[in-house]
Amino acid sequence: MTSKPDIKSQPQPAERPHAKYLWHGGELVEWDQATVHISMMGWTSISSVFEGIRAYWNEEQQQLFVFHLDAHLKRLYQSMKIMRMDCLYSPEQLTEAITGLLRANGFRADAYVQPLAYFTGGIPGYEAVWEDPAEVVITPRLAPSNLGSGKLAHCNISSWNRISDNVMPPRAKAISNYQNSRYVSTESRVNGYDYGIILNQQGKVAEASYACIFIIRDGVAITPPVSAGILESITRETVRQLLENELGVPVLERDVERTELYIADEVFLCGTAVEVQPVVSVDRYRVGDGETGPIVSRLESLFHQVVRGNHPARSHWLHPVYPQA
Ligand SMILES: *Cc1c(COP(=O)(O)O)cnc(C)c1O
Repeated sequence: MTSKPDIKSQPQPAERPHAKYLWHGGELVEWDQATVHISMMGWTSISSVFEGIRAYWNEEQQQLFVFHLDAHLKRLYQSMKIMRMDCLYSPEQLTEAITGLLRANGFRADAYVQPLAYFTGGIPGYEAVWEDPAEVVITPRLAPSNLGSGKLAHCNISSWNRISDNVMPPRAKAISNYQNSRYVSTESRVNGYDYGIILNQQGKVAEASYACIFIIRDGVAITPPVSAGILESITRETVRQLLENELGVPVLERDVERTELYIADEVFLCGTAVEVQPVVSVDRYRVGDGETGPIVSRLESLFHQVVRGNHPARSHWLHPVYPQA
């Protein structure tokens, strides 16, 4: 019998260390001074879209590298477009805002940055077409990488289904879509699993609650297509390229069925938050021999080299925060 996760032992928001500055409305704002009116809380959150971006500290080079900043900003603007949201800022301004914010905070360790665009109109958020252009807030925090930590995930197939393109488009990285993820992850945690894997409306595998999924069968990596109800993950695309071009592992994008997870040689999740994480059981079926498999093991260490700036062939995926020596 698994008991409820002990949430009281987790640091509560007020106790968590926070950055000195965040970025709001075009400028650096001290953390405690950044406010919006309480009346904005409900309706503005249903109409907001965001990005989660990691930055990795390289001790030798004394440099902080933002990973795939351009791709994340491109997706932020795509999410805004789906929402019919105009933005007050250009991608160039947001690039400067993000790197400037990390510099202002003096972060010299792994970090996570979350730009969030939200409607500011004083009218209820369901009348979105009449709203003012979106305002943007960018929140940074220190967030150590889990790469190389040997973390292994136990997953279940969620009893909840994935939202779909004509209901709540999963392609938009919208805060409101996370209601789906939240049902999934709560169910998983209550039942003693780390992550839930979500089937789409067609009963095929879509993704995990906030990460994409790959399986390895007979040396071939397989991942559900972008039409399977997934978020078009930047890490998924990164991993696809590394597998194909650097590790010589062919990648297939096709529908994946539930029982394929049970018999796969290897399964892993990927996404900005989870990075690359091996899955060692699904519904308590052991995956492979129940340990990190050989392909995901090579992939994880290559991914780690890439994001930390120790793989020059992919340095164009990194955006340095501090002036280069
Ligand atoms: C952000 C996110 C992912 C991972 O996407 P990345 O671009 O790799 O960070 C996967 N699924 C959902 C639902 C997400 O919101």
